[in-house]
Amino acid sequence: MNKVQLPAYDDSAAFDKLSKNNRLGSYPQLQPLVGTVQASYDQYMAVNGAPTLVHNQPISATAAAFLKGHYASPPTDLEHITKMRESTEHLVCPMCGSMHSGTLDHYLPKNGFPIFSVFSKNLVPACKCNSKRKETLLGANPGERVLHPYFDDCLGERLVSARFEDLGEVPRVSVVLMISNTHPQHSAINFHFRSIIQRTAVVRYLADRWSSLFRKPSRVVRALAENIATQDQVQALLEEERDALDDLHKGKNNWNSIFVSGLLDPIVLTWLAERLSMPGRVPDSPLG
Ligand SMILES: [Zn+2]
Repeated sequence: MNKVQLPAYDDSAAFDKLSKNNRLGSYPQLQPLVGTVQASYDQYMAVNGAPTLVHNQPISATAAAFLKGHYASPPTDLEHITKMRESTEHLVCPMCGSMHSGTLDHYLPKNGFPIFSVFSKNLVPACKCNSKRKETLLGANPGERVLHPYFDDCLGERLVSARFEDLGEVPRVSVVLMISNTHPQHSAINFHFRSIIQRTAVVRYLADRWSSLFRKPSRVVRALAENIATQDQVQALLEEERDALDDLHKGKNNWNSIFVSGLLDPIVLTWLAERLSMPGRVPDSPLG
């Protein structure tokens, strides 16, 4: 999960061009929709895409089918969709924090909100978590909803950490929320955490990293190539590592930062420091 910059495409102009493109099968049937679509785009922006506040203007099944078709294979009028797909593949997934994207996810699902099928501000880069999320959007309790990577500033805060217990070669691994119950967006964050993050392979990823760290610490954290004398020094090195990862991946909730956050837990720090400072230890040898 990551807060990302809003795409700067002019969606209203693009839709107008699309409606006038007489080489497309949708011509001229999108023309009567132009005003409604443009007003809907403006209203979406005015309420930051909030699912309970967006006016979901109904459109005909025919128009919806045309828009879905244009989303699937974008004509040149909608080349921003192709560009968004291609330009974000190497980036952290804004929805779940995995280390790549590669596809686009409709924040407001296109079946329920067909009018926003080709709206760039409703299209969020995502990884395979997109297919696990399906149409999940709102929870049963007040405030519960999936977070919107273009609008929810809380995605810029550190929200998630790994948790390692029963420390050893194969510890118990889980992910936990780092915010308190009094956080103003707790319900939304917690819902996003349960319905998006926890359904990914994040725990397996973290377990694999732990296994690499255990066998050869420098493989995961370069600075752990040497023996380290005190717990304070281990902590300082790991904080530096986490800051560097946050910076590199432009956010604090990518899976690599989440991993290092878990190492900074006091019990894990003590465990690591005991091993890294052991007299006679061969530098960068296994932690067992
Ligand atoms: Zn993802």
